[in-house]
Amino acid sequence: MRIWISGHWNPSDKPAEIWLTPGMLVGTHALLPVAACLLVVNLRLAAGLDRLMPRRSLWWVGVFGVLPDLFSPHLSLAARFASRSHSMVFLVGAIILAAAAGSFFENGRRLLVAVVCWCAVVLHLAADALSGGIILGYPLRDVVVGGTFIPFRFWGWCDLGLLGLTWWLWRRSVALDARRSRRKLG
Ligand SMILES: [Zn+2]
Repeated sequence: MRIWISGHWNPSDKPAEIWLTPGMLVGTHALLPVAACLLVVNLRLAAGLDRLMPRRSLWWVGVFGVLPDLFSPHLSLAARFASRSHSMVFLVGAIILAAAAGSFFENGRRLLVAVVCWCAVVLHLAADALSGGIILGYPLRDVVVGGTFIPFRFWGWCDLGLLGLTWWLWRRSVALDARRSRRKLG
């Protein structure tokens, strides 16, 4: 397996050999699972159901979304490849961390928050797999899963777009929450 230390784009490389630095920005990792949760919350609130995910749980989901990078901050794809936090080992370990996060919530929400936090880690690895790849089997295997399917220049826009979308979904959830409370009172 070749490992690329440099983050320079070389158009003459084969697609699977084009690597980038830093791969994906932190914003997308944090906001993608939060936006997905808010979408579900808003659909539920609009249908007259409860929000399911407590508001403060979204902060946990965001943190779990960046957890693999918090455990091994890196700027090169080579470092990502050689990172246990982007491997199957971490996915298993994250179950314990997600369960611990869930324990901060009330009885009926613990499992849900834990599962969603764990899914945020899975989403991180999936996104990294699309932006350069990961080695799921590290340190036992050296097979790269994924590749560079979305050019690096788009990731900054991805961050910005998700920031706007998450902000809009958050505002919408606050408005829907208020409407639900008013209906309850009425
Ligand atoms: Zn990562």
